[in-house]
Amino acid sequence: MRDFWRALRLAASDKKLMFIALATVTVSIAFNVAIPLAFKMLFDVIGEAAKSGSTAVPPSFWQAIALYATLWIANDAFGQVNFYYTVLWYNKTREILSRRVYAHLESLSLNYFENNSVGKIKERIDKGVWELNDIIEATLTEIVPQFIYILIAAGILFSVNWVFGTILMASAPIFILISLKFSPLLLQIQDKSRDSNEKLSGIMTESIINIKTIKSYATEDRHLKAFISQLLESIRLDIKYVSRRIFMNIFRLLAMDFTQIAIIGLGVYWTITGEITLGAFTLAWQYTNRSMQPLWYITRLIDDVQKKMRSVKRVFELLDTESEIVDNPNAKKLKVTKGSICFKNITFGYKDHKVVKNLSLEVPAGKVLAIVGKSGSGKTTLVKLLSRFYDTQKGIITIDGQNVCDVTQKSLREGIGVVLQDSILFNNSVAENIAYSRPSAKRKEIEIAAKQANADLFIANLPSKYETVVGERGVKLSGGEQQRINIARAILKNPPILVLDEATSSLDSESEQLIQDALWRLIEGKTTIIIAHRLSTVMKADIIVVMDKGRISEMGTHSDLVAQKGIYSKLFEIQSGGYLT
Ligand code: ADP
Repeated sequence: MRDFWRALRLAASDKKLMFIALATVTVSIAFNVAIPLAFKMLFDVIGEAAKSGSTAVPPSFWQAIALYATLWIANDAFGQVNFYYTVLWYNKTREILSRRVYAHLESLSLNYFENNSVGKIKERIDKGVWELNDIIEATLTEIVPQFIYILIAAGILFSVNWVFGTILMASAPIFILISLKFSPLLLQIQDKSRDSNEKLSGIMTESIINIKTIKSYATEDRHLKAFISQLLESIRLDIKYVSRRIFMNIFRLLAMDFTQIAIIGLGVYWTITGEITLGAFTLAWQYTNRSMQPLWYITRLIDDVQKKMRSVKRVFELLDTESEIVDNPNAKKLKVTKGSICFKNITFGYKDHKVVKNLSLEVPAGKVLAIVGKSGSGKTTLVKLLSRFYDTQKGIITIDGQNVCDVTQKSLREGIGVVLQDSILFNNSVAENIAYSRPSAKRKEIEIAAKQANADLFIANLPSKYETVVGERGVKLSGGEQQRINIARAILKNPPILVLDEATSSLDSESEQLIQDALWRLIEGKTTIIIAHRLSTVMKADIIVVMDKGRISEMGTHSDLVAQKGIYSKLFEIQSGGYLT
């Protein structure tokens, strides 16, 4: 219920639109509720004409038919106006919620994305936002007006005959009791069904993302099987849900049928005995008949709203998920004067798995530090800590003496340029991808950056040159080309500090040379940490650090470390094709 009120509060964000939508629906209902009164007038005209035995059409007929027509037309017209404003209104709510969710999603720490699949997050947001629309539409333009309709109809029925009124009023709580009794059973299955659909969406998204791997391992069948098995589970749950719903509907239909049978039976009986007029009977019948549909509808909508609230609740949960990394309230902007970096007694683990253990390290301003070590030794984690994607559990990291936890994340990340081994490009043009780090960059600056990154020649050969769209994640470019665009991006940003993750996969020697040249041009004069795999990179570095199980096991220059005869000298001995393996 708390979430339901929260959804309504959200819907009430634009009060003006809400007011117009509610006002138009109320007017439309007022016309609708009066229609049977005009209908009664028409029947009374027939009754009087029959009594007088004349075939002349009395003037009261024209009045009644004019009223009848006016009420119908006004009801329909206001219904459409209401529909228009309702659409405006719930789209406004969609805009407000989507903005909040998107902004919040971007503010969440990496941890959230590492623990939740893309498909799951996407399904959760899409479903929640759309279902909130449905709830607003259902609650405020259908449930509330229908409820008002039933109350007015019951009031009018009471005025005709108190027995009719009582019958109609008694059927409403019976309907609601049936719904309340069955709802928990339905909701149970809905939860399972939703989990199953999220998994299904996750499988599909993952397959699309990893389609290259799937095809190269020829594992299409395995993924198809997993997909079909999850799909069948989703369908099974949907059928189970519908079966339970049908079971509940049987009880609701019985309640509805009994109400109608009672009123029609008593109505005809009392009309024959002269207790009520034919007009009064048709009036009673019209209101009963027209109330049954809303009643049915309301209980169905209540089920639906409850079902949809589960999805909305999940979006609210996402909105309530706090980012693990937040700016300190007194955070200042990072000011990089020289660019010296210091890790002091750093300890960090993913949950209980300690990955960096009491590590201390200094990178003097303008120097190049190369980190080498076996896979899983904690190299990437260390640089993630520098950008504050995670917070250290012990120890501090400073840049020019400023603790990374005391500066704003925005200024910290603006100060550090990151070039990752798998360069992630957006499905935009080459120029837009280079300018991603500085959207205000002029075309000339983009071209200079591309030239420095040794990317200008291959760009000149692309079909639309700088305007060529690179495909999702840059698939239309080779690995080496993607990396050079990434380097051009970093050159354009020109940050004082650089973090590079060198590619482990080997490229042809020409691309390799072009990338190396571009990288060293980028590095010049900047404090740089490179997660290094190439011997040539390591040999050019000012300091080499060897990491082993989250600790620094060796540190020095290439010649120092070779002389030490430790892990580094072993890596050096078994290097192949210029790579430390
Ligand atoms: P390296 O870069 O040296 O290969 P990483 O820093 O990526 O090593 O990983 C160090 C250890 O931390 C590995 O055992 C890895 O499995 C673990 N690890 C890395 N990222 C995560 C994560 N997001 N959640 C849990 N464990 C992680």
